[in-house]
Amino acid sequence: MEKCKVIAITNQKGGVGKTTTTVNLGVGLVTAGKKVLLVDADPQGSLTVSLGVKNPDALDVSLSSLMQSVMEDERLSGNAIIKHKEGVDLLPSNIELSGIETGLFNVMSREYVLKNAIEGMKQNYDYILIDCMPSLGMMTINALVAADSVIIPSQPNFLSTKGLNLLLRSISKIKRQINPRLKIDGILLTMVDNRTNNAKTIISSLRSTVGENIRVFRSEIPFSVRAAECSLYGESIFSHDRSGRVAAAYAALTKEVTLIEERAKNRSGSDRVR
Ligand code: ATP
Ligand code: MG
Repeated sequence: MEKCKVIAITNQKGGVGKTTTTVNLGVGLVTAGKKVLLVDADPQGSLTVSLGVKNPDALDVSLSSLMQSVMEDERLSGNAIIKHKEGVDLLPSNIELSGIETGLFNVMSREYVLKNAIEGMKQNYDYILIDCMPSLGMMTINALVAADSVIIPSQPNFLSTKGLNLLLRSISKIKRQINPRLKIDGILLTMVDNRTNNAKTIISSLRSTVGENIRVFRSEIPFSVRAAECSLYGESIFSHDRSGRVAAAYAALTKEVTLIEERAKNRSGSDRVR
């Protein structure tokens, strides 16, 4: 298998569509023929629940067990990966992950534990998407160290766009100090209600300011209760409302994301020719 790309879906602001994007981009990539692992890096376990695991706290093995085994330098007994009917694999989490995060402070190479935990899995996948928790704490730092790139879901409102600066500063600090190959794939506008002038104004100003230096994905995810219903059924929007606007938007996002890789490969190919 060719090289696996690890993408952290991150924003320290809560409720902006990180988990929803992880599920739907993940299933979108599977539909495009890619092998995909989704990693739940949030002790809330929302990704795990959204993919149909009714009681994450009852899981015997999860991301916490895997990280624990890395911290203790031991092999994990048991397989943590769960297969979902839509073709994505899930590395689930539950509340135990918050204990792991607190424990990280006393560990050697504490920023690298998640990276080491998923290293051996990369050979089986084209993409690994990490659903981050809404904070800039140690778990998110671990995700940004494990990642090749980040996608930043953000709602088009004043406070969300203000919060972006803090996030962008943290990302560039991690890039400078620990993970120089980290890239920003782009900012994804979520829960967009184009009927409001406020949203339109914020989007056009974001595209013309931040958009000068960072990709703002052309695909915008519309606000729709259909998107919010998916997690109840443990399925993606492609199963839940296949011909709706949200499915179309996530399909378009999937294309944009795969194009980033194709362009990078073509560039490195032409570098070799030269
Ligand atoms: P957290 O920071 O708590 O992890 P999050 O950033 O992962 O949150 P989600 O859980 O994906 O955000 O979404 C927050 C809420 O908004 C959920 O109830 C979800 O179902 C709903 N939601 C997500 N996308 C949409 C959409 N396009 N339209 C309407 N509701 C949405
Ligand atoms: Mg979430």
